[in-house]
Amino acid sequence: AAQMIDVNKWYNEYHALRSINLEVTRGERIVVCGPSGSGKSTMIRCINQLEQHNSGTIAVNGVTLTGDIKQLNAIRQDVGMVFQHFNLFPHLTVLENCVIAPMTVRKTPRKEAEEMAMSYLSRIHIAEQARKFPSQLSGGQQQRVAIARSLCMQPTLMLFDEPTSALDPEMVHEVLETMVSLARDGMTMVVVTHEMGFARKVADRVIFMDRGEICESAPPEEFFKAPKNERARVFLSQLI
Ligand code: ATP
Ligand code: MG
Repeated sequence: AAQMIDVNKWYNEYHALRSINLEVTRGERIVVCGPSGSGKSTMIRCINQLEQHNSGTIAVNGVTLTGDIKQLNAIRQDVGMVFQHFNLFPHLTVLENCVIAPMTVRKTPRKEAEEMAMSYLSRIHIAEQARKFPSQLSGGQQQRVAIARSLCMQPTLMLFDEPTSALDPEMVHEVLETMVSLARDGMTMVVVTHEMGFARKVADRVIFMDRGEICESAPPEEFFKAPKNERARVFLSQLI
């Protein structure tokens, strides 16, 4: 689904990604963790080109990213992204938030777009709130809507950047449940999170980043039992 080969990224003089090699195969669920500033967000933002890499190769669904604007639009349609802050359009209802991209970008007729939106909203148990505005929902509900909105574009790959870290503790669970169910449906997912329970439950692979590098990549059972990398060990010991 996505591939990064020897990718480097600088912010001015700061070397934010150092020779990143990452292969995300279709249907794979990858959890990315690591200390603050280690480059987790930068890495996933390069996959959908919210950030441009400076060297190396990134390919999404077999297409090498060149920075071409037409290609960029195609990639963004195919790659869904959910952020820490829900980024819903505040002036649009939940339903309008979900149908706007399919209608304007994919030219899906309104009726069809609404049907699809309602089916995703029912799956996250929000169908009865479809006419509300984002500010009338809880943080957890808003984040589930943000996920449903992404799914309405029928992406082949979903990127999550700390989707639960801005939520009150009691709302974390419902958002994780939505993500677990997405994983069970076979969605290809790259998730930056420190929710290690989620990682254990659904990840095929856990990636640990530090100082712009991927230091370790292992199945969760190996990663949590005995990380090979010293910095990963320290990181894990601080989490628990
Ligand atoms: P966190 O856990 O805090 O979200 P992260 O692992 O996601 O951290 P990044 O946001 O990818 O880290 O940042 C990696 C490094 O690049 C940090 O040192 C950060 O200060 C720097 N950086 C990120 N974005 C920019 C930017 N737009 N301009 C300059 N430096 C940046
Ligand atoms: Mg980040």
